[in-house]
Amino acid sequence: MIGNFDFLPCTPAGVMELIDEAGIDLCGKNCVVVGRSNIVGKPQAMLLLHKNATVTICHSKTVNLKEICKTADVLVVAVGRAEMITGDYIKEGAVVIDVGMNRLENKKLVGDVEFESASKKASYITPVPGGVGPMTIATLMKNTLTAAKKRKLK
Ligand code: NDP
Repeated sequence: MIGNFDFLPCTPAGVMELIDEAGIDLCGKNCVVVGRSNIVGKPQAMLLLHKNATVTICHSKTVNLKEICKTADVLVVAVGRAEMITGDYIKEGAVVIDVGMNRLENKKLVGDVEFESASKKASYITPVPGGVGPMTIATLMKNTLTAAKKRKLK
């Protein structure tokens, strides 16, 4: 919130790294975050705001979710509902980041986004598994290293 970037929440920071590595400039972009949890949705929205995006946060009481998602240049989904966001929620060419991890009855791991239909609309899309998850772990390692370095300096 205050712009101290020493220790960022792992998942949202991992998402920002993915966006940055893909060379996507967020300045002035419409970003929609679906989900407002303390560990993902809220800090994600703040990090996007720090990059000068215009940010909308959606949640379970949001009216017209599909219409709002369709305004997104960048759509970040962290809901915890298997394949809820289908291709018809997505604007042509949007960047889609799927934070969700849901285990189906057949043990398959899927995201909150239906990859097949969404990938036909998106310019970039993260898969599940193998997208945001590893970035969360990488950021956790980075935070651990930062903490160790700070401790050693004392
Ligand atoms: P929470 O359950 O804490 O939050 C879910 C959010 O989604 C809430 O804000 C809720 O709204 C909103 N929501 C629920 N249903 C709907 C709906 N129908 N329409 C719109 N919004 C809805 O989950 P987390 O944020 O902790 O996690 C979200 C997902 O991300 C999960 O699948 C989790 O497993 C995954 N995850 C993945 C990580 C990774 O490293 N890849 C790390 C952390 C989480 P409301 O606030 O109104 O209830």
